[in-house]
Amino acid sequence: MKRIGVFTSGGDAPGMNAAIRAVVRQAHALGLEVIGIRRGYAGMILGEMVPLGVRDVANILQRGGTILLTARSQEFLTEEGRAKAAARLKAAGIGGLVAIGGDGTFRGAMRLTEEQGVPVVGVPGTIDNDLYGTDYTIGFDTAVNTALEAIDRIRDTAASHERVFFIEVMGRDSGFIALDVGLAGGAEVIAVPEEPLDPKAIAEGLLESQRRGKTSSIVVVAEGAYPGGAAGLLAAIKEHVRVEARVTVLGHIQRGGSPTAKDRILASRLGAAAVEALARSTGGVMVGEVEGEVAFTPLKEAVERKKDINRVLLGLSRVLAL
Ligand code: ADP
Repeated sequence: MKRIGVFTSGGDAPGMNAAIRAVVRQAHALGLEVIGIRRGYAGMILGEMVPLGVRDVANILQRGGTILLTARSQEFLTEEGRAKAAARLKAAGIGGLVAIGGDGTFRGAMRLTEEQGVPVVGVPGTIDNDLYGTDYTIGFDTAVNTALEAIDRIRDTAASHERVFFIEVMGRDSGFIALDVGLAGGAEVIAVPEEPLDPKAIAEGLLESQRRGKTSSIVVVAEGAYPGGAAGLLAAIKEHVRVEARVTVLGHIQRGGSPTAKDRILASRLGAAAVEALARSTGGVMVGEVEGEVAFTPLKEAVERKKDINRVLLGLSRVLAL
């Protein structure tokens, strides 16, 4: 293999650029050329490609988003679309790919490897941290810190006005962001999809904490924890008790911004490891970090197995929220 491709796909995440930079520079060290594919699978089908030299990735380490742009592609969901993409890669002399994205991206990558014979190594880039085979995904730490900063600000208002705030954070159907943000922000309640939710019990808990002298409370709600998110949960709680509360949906501010040191280091390490893996294997794996070491997991396992939230930390958050 002389030439490899790199692309970002699905939701953007801070640190994707740091991963692209690492891919390009590690490839250079190994004597491989790199082609950047723009707009994910959509751009792959259209042949949107740019050569990436070591200088082309200067000054992007600290930038959020992705210089290669990202997109979602309906056409790639069809075998015909994937065949077109594979033909474009072949025509460009690309012998293997580094795919930076989340589980949807990796499902596509699996198909590309198994069905079209294109070796792909996945780099986990998603703020949701919902991939098996890595303790953390690239972008998660930045998203947690961004959401935490917002929660600290809301806490000031909650305390000053003696109010209850329901704050919805991202995470799709997982509670990783909610748990870390809730624990670090001292939330009175953390609602995650991994645990059954009882609106009545939450209502009683809020009343009980008022009886104990709390004048304000923060309830952190993962977007997938309850139908309708934070607003839906508050409505369900109001059926049991009269709780005056404000809802804040943090939304897309959690996705952008300059990556934290932790995310830059993770992205640098995993981007470089992906190129090394691609140079010596047939792909079909995701590169992650498990207990501080680089680890490889078949893409199939990475998307199909469920990584659990840290139940010990969830329990601790409840003890500390007294
Ligand atoms: P993420 O990678 O952040 O989870 P998406 O779920 O939007 O993002 O997936 C990104 C793209 O990957 C989709 O637009 C689609 O083109 C491709 N993709 C997702 N699932 C599959 C699948 N089962 N088979 C083939 N391609 C897929």
